[in-house]
Amino acid sequence: MKPSAFSHQPAVLLGLLLIAGVASAQTARAPQHGVRPAKLAIRNAMIIEGNGTPASGPYDILLEGNLIASVVALDPVALRGGTARRPAADVEIDATGKYVMPGLINIHGHVQDERGGLPQPLDYELKLWLASGITTVRDVGSRTRRTLELRERSAAGTLQAPRIFVYASFGGGGDDVESRGIRSPEDARARVRALKAQGVDGIKSVGIDRDLMQAMLDEAKKVGLPVAHHAGVEETNAWDDARFGTTSIEHWYGVPDAALADGVQGFPATYNYNNEVDRFRYAGRLWREADPEKLGKVLQALVDAGVAWDPTLVIYEASRDLTRAQNQPWFKDYLHPTLEEYFKPNPANHGSYFIGWSSTDEAFWRENYRIWMAALRDFERRGGMIGAGEDAGFIYQMYGFGLIRELELQQEAGFHPLKVIQHATGNNAKILGQEGRLGRVRAGWLADLIVVNGNPLEDLKMLYATGTETIRDGKTVRTGGVEWTIKDGIPYHGPTLLAQVKEIVARDRATPPRAVTSPNP
Ligand SMILES: [Zn+2]
Repeated sequence: MKPSAFSHQPAVLLGLLLIAGVASAQTARAPQHGVRPAKLAIRNAMIIEGNGTPASGPYDILLEGNLIASVVALDPVALRGGTARRPAADVEIDATGKYVMPGLINIHGHVQDERGGLPQPLDYELKLWLASGITTVRDVGSRTRRTLELRERSAAGTLQAPRIFVYASFGGGGDDVESRGIRSPEDARARVRALKAQGVDGIKSVGIDRDLMQAMLDEAKKVGLPVAHHAGVEETNAWDDARFGTTSIEHWYGVPDAALADGVQGFPATYNYNNEVDRFRYAGRLWREADPEKLGKVLQALVDAGVAWDPTLVIYEASRDLTRAQNQPWFKDYLHPTLEEYFKPNPANHGSYFIGWSSTDEAFWRENYRIWMAALRDFERRGGMIGAGEDAGFIYQMYGFGLIRELELQQEAGFHPLKVIQHATGNNAKILGQEGRLGRVRAGWLADLIVVNGNPLEDLKMLYATGTETIRDGKTVRTGGVEWTIKDGIPYHGPTLLAQVKEIVARDRATPPRAVTSPNP
């Protein structure tokens, strides 16, 4: 009999564990951090599927290599009688009292090894992602060639990192020098074909005019590349995304912009879009100007066209509560000095617009969020697909922690935690076109799972790498956290990763990073 049958009686469990250890010839080992075993069993787990269905359990989950081989329901009667059939394995995780769910997918990440011209160890970001239960990242617009290389190393298991999907930047953003020369629809088509030949997984488009957008999306469809559109306040808006068939809208601007009664926001005469203070200040007054009836039509058009929405609520949070954003508890031990420097308000850095940010700005932004959150709910109720991404590395948001905060904000928007988890797993897998391999706890799917030390449906804060606090027997105790992040069948121990991040930060604080010779734009 396996000891986990007595999960509800911890004291008895411990005794039996010892007896079983002596009695059984084949005592399973604990997993080794970063080493993929041939067969790994996760015992006695509660499971949250990535498809919105309720939690259920207990189950034994057997992983073979990088696949989920079987998910076996444990019958309590058979368990008590010692006749339960349980899969054999050489390595085991006892998930008694824990929840297992699909690894989180961060649908809007940026692979970064520098900020504002200062170097930042790549490991720092990758470890934070894994420690936060993120097993897949869609990288939207970084250095394409370098990120493609990381994608291969991650897939080969030689780099401790989530799976990476490379969406090359097309248009204004990123450091994609070649795409700046796109002048005609033919240029746009040629660029799409060149990116396809380079082996990217998709395209992240930013700030291109309508004719180029149409040609780019048409060509992308032909060659089979999905397109994530950073929808800014520009010539195109959500109507174009619906008409031309964007895969996902990133952020939000283009949605209320498409619902303005008169087609333009009531900007003051001195407004300058390239001034970030102007841009972020008046962005906070955009949702209130959207005509509710027209907005309903925009949302419906997006739903009908199958355009998904990745809102990245988290990346604007400083706009509604600057003090909160600047004082997040994980900064103390885990904020890298490079990122710390980059977050300081400085007109030279993107997203550092908070000099003179007022209570009036925050009040507008709070209202902005209320309307935005209601629109997200409306969108999903109409049948729209919502994803979850963090966009960290900008505006006080740290890698990993940012995605968990995104989940909290989606709950604040009114989504049930089961739906929130679905957004970050099953839905994100669909947006990536990977729904047959990722985002589920299901036999035959890739072994990307996390073991959470507690029930995230009770408190999404359980998913923070640093866990959360609760009261037990009158004492404050630390609980939660992602204990194991299993990516491609390789188990990574959450607390070990976090300790390594802490070491990197301490080391680099002692010897502050110096500017790299040629800073990236
Ligand atoms: Zn971004």
